[in-house]
Amino acid sequence: KGMKGHVQPNHQMTPDTIGYMASYLIGKFFAGETKLSVLDPAVGTGNLLSTILNRHGMLITQAFGVDVDDLLIKLAYTGANLQRQSTQFYNQDALDPLFIDPVDAVVCDLPVGYYPNDIRAADYALKNDSGHSFAHHLFIEQGIKHTKPGGYLLFLIPNNLFESAESQKLHEYLKDTVHIQGVLQLPLSLFKNEKAAKSIFILQKKKPGLDAPKEVLLAVLPKLSNREALDKMIADMEKWFQENKEGTLQA
Ligand code: SAM
Repeated sequence: KGMKGHVQPNHQMTPDTIGYMASYLIGKFFAGETKLSVLDPAVGTGNLLSTILNRHGMLITQAFGVDVDDLLIKLAYTGANLQRQSTQFYNQDALDPLFIDPVDAVVCDLPVGYYPNDIRAADYALKNDSGHSFAHHLFIEQGIKHTKPGGYLLFLIPNNLFESAESQKLHEYLKDTVHIQGVLQLPLSLFKNEKAAKSIFILQKKKPGLDAPKEVLLAVLPKLSNREALDKMIADMEKWFQENKEGTLQA
């Protein structure tokens, strides 16, 4: 409901449904791990991060949230206190240098649009050649920089991420730095119109000796109220984890 009635999508909190799906994926990709650090560089109200922390509180020993909006980060801070979550918040532009060491997992509901600071954007490989750069591209690059080799990144991306003129550059950058693990298209019923629809984009930062998955996990998620279709989808995903993430324990 939240995602349908919004006026300012870039300040909209990430609904629980997406947080649950992200939590499930973190459990699967990090099965067998005992200690994780997580960063959300556009933490907003904190809902996405805190949904994940509620599910994996024992596993996640360090959590970091960054947001440029002081009101939203106050909400995130208050929410973390109420839920007794130990998260470090930074009220700053996440595309400026971050005083946070690389983490095991980056999660981010990306702000989508142009980034006004061309001088800062010039520090990024994914800057636009002319005019303002795309904030969502720069956030992906910053996220990858702040992930440990072998760590995972879960981004909420617009479905048309690879349709812009600058997408070729993004493609090349991803090919050099990460192994794409999956793209899960969220049900269109979650969004007011198709143009606003999003997917979960899952990446693993490259590390020597680490191979790409045999196949990329591609799926269109059913409405989460459709129990039968969702069970089938989860079964398909479990199969993908067994076939492509051999050696990882099952969550
Ligand atoms: N996951 C968040 C939640 O659950 O509330 C929602 C994230 S919202 C879609 C995108 C966020 O990006 C907004 O909170 C906005 O303030 C933040 N943002 C936009 N540009 C930013 C920047 N340059 N640095 C840090 N945060 C930024």
